[in-house]
Amino acid sequence: MVVKRTEKESKSKMKMSIFNTLTRKVEEIKPIKKGEIGMYSCGPTVYGRAHVGNMRAYIFADTLRRVLEYYGYKVKHVMNITDVGHLTSDADSGEDKMQKSAREERLSAWDISKKYTELFFEDEKELNIIRPSVVCNATDHIKEQIELIKSLEKKGYTYKTSDGIYFDTAKFKKYGDLAKLNIEGLQAGKRIDVGEKKNKTDFALWKFSGEDEKRDMEWESPWGKGFPGWHIECSAMSMRYLGDNFDIHTGGIDHIPIHHTNEIAQSESSTGKKFVNYWVHSEFLVLGEQEKMSKSLGNVINLDTIKEKGFTPMDYRYLCLGVQYRKRLIFGEDVLKSAANSMQRLRNKIIEIKEENPKKIELSKLSSESKKYLEEFKESVFNDLNTPKALAVMWNMLSDNEISNSEKYNLILDFERVLGLGLDKIKREEIKIDNKLQKLLDKREEFRKQKKWQEADKIRDEILAEGYVILDTGEGPKLEKSGK
Ligand SMILES: [Zn+2]
Repeated sequence: MVVKRTEKESKSKMKMSIFNTLTRKVEEIKPIKKGEIGMYSCGPTVYGRAHVGNMRAYIFADTLRRVLEYYGYKVKHVMNITDVGHLTSDADSGEDKMQKSAREERLSAWDISKKYTELFFEDEKELNIIRPSVVCNATDHIKEQIELIKSLEKKGYTYKTSDGIYFDTAKFKKYGDLAKLNIEGLQAGKRIDVGEKKNKTDFALWKFSGEDEKRDMEWESPWGKGFPGWHIECSAMSMRYLGDNFDIHTGGIDHIPIHHTNEIAQSESSTGKKFVNYWVHSEFLVLGEQEKMSKSLGNVINLDTIKEKGFTPMDYRYLCLGVQYRKRLIFGEDVLKSAANSMQRLRNKIIEIKEENPKKIELSKLSSESKKYLEEFKESVFNDLNTPKALAVMWNMLSDNEISNSEKYNLILDFERVLGLGLDKIKREEIKIDNKLQKLLDKREEFRKQKKWQEADKIRDEILAEGYVILDTGEGPKLEKSGK
């Protein structure tokens, strides 16, 4: 249904809203400081290559940042790099993931960190993810983490065991609110050995280096030589760069019950203030049945795996945008193929429009028909980041014959600010036309001149079977690669 709006109504500022895990409601975003947003995203643990499931969370954080900027906010986006302290088990036991990779790859933990941080940012670049305003390593902020633990110790929130300094979760009354954890139920089910911990949910703030353990990364502290726990880094660095109370914190939903729950406990116990106003989480990417069974793909699919199959990073980004961030993305070659098809159609459409040398038009001077699409696009993304709807609006706009190509092109450039699909850089790929193709093209032209449309269409189909579509431009027919 098309909603007709008066000029005045469409000019009034729309609201931007997002689902807040803290309240389980879609809420209007009201920044702490007018016109500005402070946003923190939990970054990668750089012990190995990020897989597509990880990358979905970063594409989501990037899209949120883009939408906030599109709305008009000045965004300070901070992301950490976990290069120490993330243990293989959530129960603060097991090996440090960095040390484990170091041992396996026969490199130092520092080299592992460097290697996978570089790979991570290469992937981010290929996915057209805007680099956060601040990227901070845990190992560069040991001082801040020690200070935070000291302040918690002073306030009586910590205790010591033989392997480290722990946070006593029973002392933080709101513990588990974010995840709506049933703490009593958890405590009652104390069958699991908690070791020296007082409560099952208590977690390490500082871990001591083992007596005979050879660690590449360890530091002196008031409690002895060791390294920080994983959760403390995010509290320390987010508050260091964004203040004690800031607007938005993002991450995957897997972070809700432990990592983010612990971040809140540490930060709020230390400052006595509310830590974060909006907690925003992206759902999982899960493998479809086919992929689960396919041994060749293994269960770890990264950007290289995708490229080896003939897809582009932008095909993957399109796939992510096609599913709202709060819904599960069922991943498989079939859905990737369909995203690649859409990307190819989009590329062809944009090339076709560009052939006509579109003029630059200010958005305020667009026709009312075009403005309607602009409003619909904004409504979609400002309403809990409904990117699938935004893509649908874009396609409707592109196929609307009432709108000139110039207007279409200007709208695409505007939508690109949010979508990040590289639509502003699309240009015709040079296609080498071999003899066979040239002959077919000439024959088709001949039929068209004779107005033998059926015969001409038959040849168009033959060319399509070769993998190309014909675009009839002002300068004659041109070829473009067809979708898969
Ligand atoms: Zn974190």
